[in-house]
Order: sequence, then C-alpha cells, then structure tokens
Amino acid sequence: MIMRTTLILMVLMSVLMVSSGCTGTAERGSSLAVVVTTSILGDVVTNVVNGGADVVVMMPIGADPHDFEPSARQVAALRSADLIVANGLGLEESLSEVMSAAVEDGVLLLEVGPDVDPLPLDDSGGFDPHVWLDPIRMVTAVDLLVEALGDLDDSTDWAGRAAAYRRQLIEVDASIRERLAFIPNDERFLFTGHQAFGYFADRYGFEVTATILPGASTMVEPSASSFADVVEALEASRVPAVFTDRNESQALAEQLIDQVSREVVLVQLYTGALGGEGSGAETYIDLMKWNAEAIAGAFEQ
Ligand SMILES: [Zn+2]
Repeated sequence: MIMRTTLILMVLMSVLMVSSGCTGTAERGSSLAVVVTTSILGDVVTNVVNGGADVVVMMPIGADPHDFEPSARQVAALRSADLIVANGLGLEESLSEVMSAAVEDGVLLLEVGPDVDPLPLDDSGGFDPHVWLDPIRMVTAVDLLVEALGDLDDSTDWAGRAAAYRRQLIEVDASIRERLAFIPNDERFLFTGHQAFGYFADRYGFEVTATILPGASTMVEPSASSFADVVEALEASRVPAVFTDRNESQALAEQLIDQVSREVVLVQLYTGALGGEGSGAETYIDLMKWNAEAIAGAFEQ
C-alpha cells in the first residue's frame, strides 16, 4: 500500500513537472524576468510591460553604452532572465559574449536594432546602432517586444498594455517634426561628436555633414588629418552648433570650435543614456523632446 502510494505520488509529481515545463516560465507563480541593456531601452521596456513583468536595467543613467562593463551580479541576472532585450548592431560591445552564453542557456534574446530597418555605416560594412534616436523605429521596437513577450507568456494582453505608450511615441515624433519645421531645408546640416545622429537625421530631414570621432562608437579617436578635415568642413559651413553627447569627452569639440573663425556653439545632447533626476531627460520620450528643443534652440540663434 505504502509502495503504491509512493509510486502514484512519483507519477503525479513527474506529470506536474512536465506540465509546468510545457506551460513556460510565466506559470511558475512569478512574473517574467526581463533584463535590458541600456537605460533608454530600459525605459521603453518598462513602459511596454507596464507592470506585467519584472524589468532589470543593466546600464546606469549616464553610462556610455559603447564601453559599459557588466558586474558579476549583472552577468548572473542576464543568464537567469526569461528575456534579454538588447540594442544589438555592435552597441553593447562588452556584453556580446555574456549574451551568447545566456542564449545557449535557453534565454530568449531580442535584439531590437537589426529588425528596425538599420542604416548602413559609411564604409565599414556594419550598421549604425543608434536606432533609438528615431521614435518611429522605436514604435517597431515596441511591436517586436510585444511579440517576444507573447512568445513567453500568451496569457497576458501585451499589446493592450503597450498601447498607450505606443501612441505617445507616435505623438512625440509629430511634436519633434513640428518643433524643427522652421529650419529651412538648405540649413539642415548637423555636426556631431560621434556618428550618433544618422537615424534622427534620416527621420527629420537633416544631413550629418561631419562627425568629430570617425565612427559610430565613442571608442575610436580621430587622426590628425581627419580632425583637420572636420575643422575645414565646419569653417566652410553655416551650421550654428556642434552637437555632442553629454557623456562623451567634450575636449575635441571645444578644440574644434576654437579653430573656427566664426561663432559656433557647443550643445550637449542626451544620445546614449537617460539624464539624471532634474535633467528633463529622465525618460526616453523626454530625452527626445529635450534634444529636439536644444537643436531647435541652436538653429534659432
Ligand atoms: Zn553612440
């Protein structure tokens, strides 16, 4: 009798284990664990899940995503997540190995960049990772997220949870377009720190004339001759400002402006990370508005 009860219990337990395995992680009684790499994507994901999942953001506010190094604790969080949301396209240079290991462990990885119509970089053969500086591409990112979350837990209305935020992204695109509308077509040129503004320029009808750093990363310094080319191009242009990321070194931009005979201002934007408390760029949407306002302000001078 005892033997038989034990046997029945064992069978019951194995049935339970199999069924909980089949119904996925969300049925374990806790909500999905989502780990996000950048602070900007972290804000977007937090708004999309809208309380329906636990979101951990790896990079702190102000961290340059190009040279971020994870802690051992963050690596462990990545490997035990249900879903990792990353930008991809080479942005998270130091996280690629850990993310591959997590994928091998069975973690679902959503890289947003490759699926939002990325723009090729000039001659490197790679793609520009700064997709988030276009809010319409981030609308696509929201849809990708909704799909990935649905793959993990189809009992939650993820699209419904994300709907209000998705609308706000479309609204912020319209408000940026309107704010910049006064700038004449023949003045829509940008000089920037590194190649971060390709998507912004593409969406709002600007052209990035030159960048101080030669690539789409903050990790590569310009050569003396490429810097001289930038000085010459800035001198020859009519642009009112040089736009840098607040978290990158400003020394080269200051040097550049010093070498130009006409007046050019240095405007620091929020490109790679959210701003701190009181900055006005604490959320992705506010960051986009803040940048648009700062760019508009420079052209109004
Ligand atoms: Zn960047």
